[in-house]
Amino acid sequence: MPEGDISIMAESVQNHTTGPSTQAVHAGRSRQQPKDALTTPIYQTATYTFADTADVVSYMQAKSMGMSNGRSEYSRYGNPTVKAVEARLAALEGAEDALLYSSGMAAITSVLLSILSTGSHIVLTDDCYRRTRDFSLTFLKRLGIESSLVPMGDYAALEAAIRPETRLIVTESPTNPYLRVIDLERLVSIAKTHRVKTLVDTTFATPVNVRPIEYGVDLVVHSGTKYLGGHNDLLAGSVAGSADLISALRQNQGMIGDVLDPHTAWLLERGLKTLGLRVTYQNQSAYEIACYLSDHSAVRRVWYPGLDTHPDHAIAARQLKGFGGVVSFEIEGTLEDAGRFIDALQYPSISPSLGGVESLVNQPAVMTYYDLSSEERARISISDTLIRFAVGIEDTHDLLSDLAQALAVV
Ligand SMILES: *Cc1c(COP(=O)(O)O)cnc(C)c1O
Repeated sequence: MPEGDISIMAESVQNHTTGPSTQAVHAGRSRQQPKDALTTPIYQTATYTFADTADVVSYMQAKSMGMSNGRSEYSRYGNPTVKAVEARLAALEGAEDALLYSSGMAAITSVLLSILSTGSHIVLTDDCYRRTRDFSLTFLKRLGIESSLVPMGDYAALEAAIRPETRLIVTESPTNPYLRVIDLERLVSIAKTHRVKTLVDTTFATPVNVRPIEYGVDLVVHSGTKYLGGHNDLLAGSVAGSADLISALRQNQGMIGDVLDPHTAWLLERGLKTLGLRVTYQNQSAYEIACYLSDHSAVRRVWYPGLDTHPDHAIAARQLKGFGGVVSFEIEGTLEDAGRFIDALQYPSISPSLGGVESLVNQPAVMTYYDLSSEERARISISDTLIRFAVGIEDTHDLLSDLAQALAVV
């Protein structure tokens, strides 16, 4: 293997039986790195040089035939550090290729802008990431692209919303904040019947818990800011899919320019190495917390796909390897009581994010949906005392005793 070519994925880590933790550590790197470094070098460079004019000409010739072999002339078109992490993510998703973006929203908006054109239409399931919904209903609408919002879990409505000009079904699993789980088999079967592409945001699941490509989903997006990075210290986004789709997206990224910088890509790779350990632990910890909360008299309701009280428990049990690290619940009392409960917690910080080593907690009514009136929130089922608990990697018993003392306050 030539020195410096880190875009080559070791064959042995590409096969189906390799576990996610092995892939998270090894996929996308060659055994021997430049200067024998164990870890992926950070190619902190804006541009690349050519030995002489003949080198330029042969590079351009190869590039025009789509055979640039990982080489690039400028970092907006490709960077070896970024490429190594893309190869690792592709392996983790079981996809042919993956592309990194500067944030999860950059990934989502770029994919939508690339696939859709004026006059086309998308179907979107509700209870999705708020900015994805806002982007579709305002920005895309301005470009003459219509969106139909259908209730998550209503497959008849999903199918009925498809029109001749529908290009894409956009959905999430598990969703935020109610952790609804899409039946990927039904989704793909409906989409294939109508020759529509599918895009699933599985930020909350990670490839450790579900790999939608195996079900025939076309594109899988992630906010790498969450579990993939895992340390609440970076913003990144990714899209995985077929070589053809990703290649078209890569071309467009060269124009749009929403690339991930090499240093952040390196941090993402560093975080990814422990993805399997973190997510497995967070799955278990969140499950124990969900069970504890559902037995507590001060808790009105718990949404966690691992509980048989969750509307999608059957799908989740069939489809997910773990139920994820986020638990949503409503406590008894008022908006202010929920605030008092949150303020009494010692370990989780108050923050809108999730997926990192630190537990985070927030009250959507005063965070994500602060701008809506109580009635408007009620219409989209965001109750005043709803709490989203993003479980970190702290010891479960510490989080449980923290929850117990804070619940005693209200
Ligand atoms: C955070 C998040 C996004 C947006 O990602 P950023 O990295 O913050 O841009 C998209 N989808 C889901 C499900 C998210 O949780």
